[in-house]
Amino acid sequence: MPTETFEFQVEARQLLQLMIHSVYSNKDVFLRELVSNASDALDKLRLAKLRDDSLDADLSDLHIELEIDKDARTLTVRDNGVGMSYDEVGQLIGTIANSGTAQLLRELREAQDGTGTEGLIGQFGVGFYSGFMVADEVTLLTRRAGEGQGTRWTSRGEGTYTLERVDDAPQGTSVTLHLKPADPDNQLHDYTSVWKIKEIVKRYSDFITWPIRLVGETGGDGEAAGPETLNSMKALWARSREEVSEEEYHELYKHIGHDWREPLQTIQLQAEGTFEYQALLFVPSHAPHDLFTQNFRHGLQLYVKRVFIMDDCEALLPPYLRFVKGVVDAQDLSLNVSREILQQDRHIRMMQRRLTKKVLASVKSMMTGDAERYATFWREFGAVLKEGLVTDPDNRDALLAVTSFATTRGDDGTATLKQYVERMPDGQDDIWFITGESRESIDNSPHMEAFRERGIEVLLLTDPVDEMWVDAVGEYEGKRLRSIAKGEVDLGAREDDRSEDERQQQAEEYAGLLDWMRERLDEDVKEVRLSTRLTVSPACLVADANDLTPALENMYRAMGQEVPRTKRILELNPDHALVKGLNEAYGEREDRSDLTDTAELLHSLAVLAEGGRPKDPARFVRLMADRLERTL
Ligand code: ADP
Repeated sequence: MPTETFEFQVEARQLLQLMIHSVYSNKDVFLRELVSNASDALDKLRLAKLRDDSLDADLSDLHIELEIDKDARTLTVRDNGVGMSYDEVGQLIGTIANSGTAQLLRELREAQDGTGTEGLIGQFGVGFYSGFMVADEVTLLTRRAGEGQGTRWTSRGEGTYTLERVDDAPQGTSVTLHLKPADPDNQLHDYTSVWKIKEIVKRYSDFITWPIRLVGETGGDGEAAGPETLNSMKALWARSREEVSEEEYHELYKHIGHDWREPLQTIQLQAEGTFEYQALLFVPSHAPHDLFTQNFRHGLQLYVKRVFIMDDCEALLPPYLRFVKGVVDAQDLSLNVSREILQQDRHIRMMQRRLTKKVLASVKSMMTGDAERYATFWREFGAVLKEGLVTDPDNRDALLAVTSFATTRGDDGTATLKQYVERMPDGQDDIWFITGESRESIDNSPHMEAFRERGIEVLLLTDPVDEMWVDAVGEYEGKRLRSIAKGEVDLGAREDDRSEDERQQQAEEYAGLLDWMRERLDEDVKEVRLSTRLTVSPACLVADANDLTPALENMYRAMGQEVPRTKRILELNPDHALVKGLNEAYGEREDRSDLTDTAELLHSLAVLAEGGRPKDPARFVRLMADRLERTL
């Protein structure tokens, strides 16, 4: 049968180059990757047969085989699983579908000088290609379950691979690594050593639920290998925590999480009673880069009585816990259970509730027991968890208890609502916060001025979701959550404040200017008033307590919803020289056309101060330049 030659997709070629030149020093992991693929293939076959009993496949002895040939210097990883069709081999092995790997490559390219690349590689499972770390040629022979013909794939990893149809291929897939020449100085990396292979399997793949057997002739040095099962196949989730080492848990996490890094937290739950199940959950130590994208694949692995049923089972955890990885093994579900059924199943909903509580309790224990770990957790996943404040009212209190905020006070600059309320001085009734795009834009916001001067603590909220949950939650322990950029703020009287009479008098003095300005700026503002929150800036924009903020408006528009533009309120600082001067000029002049420009500029300055941009930047620059010129 003819052999066809193909070129690797560009990204695949780049990844292969990395593997061949082996920037990753821990080469042993190639075996973990191949065994992991084999195990998945066995899961898939069992599932396919479950769905379609007429599938022509032998399920009597599903297993993984490792075969060492010392003389030929080859190592073969073989499974009798689902296999791949001719087209699938081209698609799956010739290209990189995994978006995480594509991301890795981008980051590697950015880290041009090559330093730090090892760390980057360690963050991603690179799968099948990792074989090229130890082999200079790889052959893969596979036959898709139910098909008569098989496919042979061969490559030296250098730009091309060949495909050939094969008539007498056995069920499943075998990957043969033609190992690189032995390094006499480094016996540690001899992958024809029985001892070495046993050690790697034990370390990385012990929990694999299929038998991994070592077979074949092993050459003349007396190392014998019979068909021997190397792994214990223990389902870690079904065992008590004392029996399992942290390392074993971590290896399972790496297998199911497609992550090469250690998890941050391991969570175990064994539910007994009428609906029995075991769960082993992991909080990763890093947020995946696509956590906030539409097609982020989340969910747990679902097993029924030790039989793998599906990946990415979303029904088991709410969306705001989508970063959690793990396994759930239920005793009393049907093996034929489908996603649609799961979404409606009462038991599944109960499981979801229980698992959610368990995860939140675990976050709580990090918070109280290990500040550093909690800080990592919050940095990576805080923004996701806060979605729950909006979507899961039942767990709101538990969520608020583990939610922390950047703040203008506090030793490390963070606070929980509880801490905030505990240190609120007498007379303060509200929990003040400000939302914005970044810490810098918030820190310099004119809205902060009076709060800073009076030493009133303000929570600094910079995640997009913050705009939503503060509305949804509304109050905490009877204290209202209030934006410092909304509504009138009355921060209580101080000694050097004006008296009520003085204020009244000031209001009268400014009444004409304020009315006149509102008319001039009618397109953009609904009210112009004197401010109690400014000390340094001449003006700022605020919203009515029930108005949408500009950020929320943008968010709704981005989601395709029509939102009317909300006019804001312009507040002026009556103690600022510019505002005072403007008021005097307003009182004295007949021709106010020049003052109209100043009013417009004042409004633009308020827009700029909160990080926005003037409606007509070119006009703003012209007016500004004109004013500056007159100062020369
Ligand atoms: P990943 O395992 O992360 O998806 P790989 O490069 O290791 O990436 O494998 C790509 C795909 O090739 C797998 O998702 C699977 O569909 C297929 N594949 C790899 N090894 C096997 C195998 N032993 N049996 C069947 N399919 C396999």
